[in-house]
Amino acid sequence: MYQFLISVLFFTIIGLFAVCVISLTRWGSMLHTYLFFYSVSNLVYNCAYVLILRSQNEDTYVTALKIGYLGRVWVGISMTLFIAELCGKNFPKIAKVIASIINMIVYLFILNLERTHIYYKQYKFVMDGDIPTLPHSGGPLYYVFSLLNLFYSILCVYIIVSAFIHEKNKTAKKRNLMLVIAVAVMVISYLVYFLKLIPLARKFDLMIFGYALCTALMLIAIIKYEMLDTIAAAKNYVVDELSESIIVVDTDERVSYFNKPAKTLFPELVEVKEAGSTIQKLSDELNYALKSGEPLRMGESIYTPRVNPLMEDGTRVGTLYSLSDDSEHYRYMDELREQKRIADNANEAKSKFLANMSHEIRTPINAVLGFNEMISRECARARDIDEAKSPAVTEAFDNISSYSGNIGGAGSNLLSIINAILDLSKIEAGKMDLVEGKYSLRALLKDINRMLIFRAAEKGLEFTADVEETLPDNLFGDMIRIRQVVINILTNAVKYTQKGSVRLIVKGPESKTVKKGDMLTLTIMVKDTGIGIRPEDREKLFGTFERLELERNSTIEGTGLGLAISRQLISMMGGKITVESEYGSGSTFIITLPQKVVSDEPIGKFSVSADTSERKDKPYEASFKAPDATVLVVDDTKLNLTVAKALLKDTGLKVDTVDSGSAAIELTMEKKYDLILMDQRMPNMDGTEALKNIRSQENGLNTDTPIICMTADAIIGSKERYIAEGFDDYLSKPVKINELEQTLIKHLPPEKITKQ
Ligand code: ADP
Repeated sequence: MYQFLISVLFFTIIGLFAVCVISLTRWGSMLHTYLFFYSVSNLVYNCAYVLILRSQNEDTYVTALKIGYLGRVWVGISMTLFIAELCGKNFPKIAKVIASIINMIVYLFILNLERTHIYYKQYKFVMDGDIPTLPHSGGPLYYVFSLLNLFYSILCVYIIVSAFIHEKNKTAKKRNLMLVIAVAVMVISYLVYFLKLIPLARKFDLMIFGYALCTALMLIAIIKYEMLDTIAAAKNYVVDELSESIIVVDTDERVSYFNKPAKTLFPELVEVKEAGSTIQKLSDELNYALKSGEPLRMGESIYTPRVNPLMEDGTRVGTLYSLSDDSEHYRYMDELREQKRIADNANEAKSKFLANMSHEIRTPINAVLGFNEMISRECARARDIDEAKSPAVTEAFDNISSYSGNIGGAGSNLLSIINAILDLSKIEAGKMDLVEGKYSLRALLKDINRMLIFRAAEKGLEFTADVEETLPDNLFGDMIRIRQVVINILTNAVKYTQKGSVRLIVKGPESKTVKKGDMLTLTIMVKDTGIGIRPEDREKLFGTFERLELERNSTIEGTGLGLAISRQLISMMGGKITVESEYGSGSTFIITLPQKVVSDEPIGKFSVSADTSERKDKPYEASFKAPDATVLVVDDTKLNLTVAKALLKDTGLKVDTVDSGSAAIELTMEKKYDLILMDQRMPNMDGTEALKNIRSQENGLNTDTPIICMTADAIIGSKERYIAEGFDDYLSKPVKINELEQTLIKHLPPEKITKQ
């Protein structure tokens, strides 16, 4: 028997030693620490037990017992910690501290076994055959310690069984089953020993066998299921070395793992995990960031939160939260935002400046063109009056008329440059809006035709328009912008063609059947026989301020903005503009544009016709006379008032002028007008305010009088804005005489007008 027990003990010692070595060589986590702690405690007790079995008297027995208890007191707690860690359960720090204090107290009393009777009340050394024994009656501490060990055993059973039940992963379940058996063996051995269920229990600490068997089973589980795998340790190491903070929670949101960076960021994680608390116990800011996905700011650093479900065999077993330190990225983004804000502000300032500049430039141009118009009219009139018709005077009149024509041309050119700059700044600021509506394709083409035919004729170019007869006439789109683009391209064609022809071709898609409500792809082509464009220049063409072959084209006026604006406008409308060209023989610009069909009525035959009545050099004649009608013109620039008065002179209208909104209000209270032309930008009181005041005058004479907004604010969309503010119509400065007269005809009382 004695020999048998000694042999078993040696085997146990070897087994425990092996476990110690395994846990030491693979040290990488708390699991290894607890296992090492457990096997060393057991090893110490087992080695001492060899000495116990060899003792021949009470003294050596008790001394060996004291050495053995140095390990034995720690066996229960280390086993429990190991099992708990393995099952992902948390053991509160305070419990560990209390258990350690109790163990130390127990050991203190065991060290003083002979002097106190707290652990053993009495004991006596007896040789039971060849086995030395120490029959004893237990003191209070003996029972406390025994109960504590019983408690540890039950706790281990509880932890391992509940982990086994809740475990969904098959491999983990098998591993846990092995541990359930190991713990069960230990508990049974404990009960047999404590309750002295078999006679051997009276002379031998059977728990040694229990722990030995338990250790063997755990060793199998460890090796078979690679519980202490180096890969796992390596993974832990890598995860700790990540710059990302990682927190893992179980399905109840309880913190079950966190890596080193997470611990540095939230030191309270240690306590939260040990207390078995949920992640909500950490800061509100963190929880908000995890829920909303918004960056988390901590001191100088900014972290991006990410949430990933943890799946095992298709079942969710928890959640992995990670926080990556993206401070640099956010700082860069902030910097970019700041730069964008500065650029936007600068751009806005530029747009404002351009709008103001356009207003300021338009006002004097209004005067220049207005007076120029007067010069040309007066010149024509003087030529008629001059009865002598001496060659010198006629030549002088001709010269004046030609100079005035040049002033008019240069003025109009200046205006179109201002308009182009304004357009471009609007597009760049993203403020260019399309104004879509129903329009007649026929009317649009007629208008374009009218604008181009004389320019082409002046250069001796043939101008033809080839329009597919079956195209629907009524379309939906931004007619003004289409007109602007097509005129720009046609004007270019005329500008860059010295001889030959300019052709406008308008057609629909290959399949001719278009119905009301369909989208129609309109193709507008402009073919010229001009100078052509070199292949390498074709892309540059649409850049801002890009003008090709400056030397060759030095005599041709232009800003290099037209095509850039055209391409932007066409792409805003969902279309495309391309160019084909043979250098030296001509170019073809092709616009494809989706337009909605309003009705399927076809456009019919369309031909280019020169309406000679519109020729510029025809002497001016007012388009109507209205000597009985009275008009009030309000403008803070005196020059403009003079221009307006002069321009309306031939119509016979009675024109009153005032230079401020308040003066207009005063006058309108005394006198009834048939129409008011109101400037918009005026100091103290602007046009809109004056309009509202006139409209709301009690028993006012002019509450119903049409009020036309006349302003240098020519940005697209201005017309709609002013009409929405209450104006009856809108005229942009510099005022074109035709437009002015047409507007007056529209709004003056018909009975006071005689058309010419
Ligand atoms: P610009 O005001 O200079 O005409 P655009 O943007 O309309 O500005 O045109 C840019 C440049 O493209 C022109 O300066 C010219 O060199 C070239 N270009 C435009 N249309 C034609 C054409 N039909 N034939 C040859 N060159 C052209």
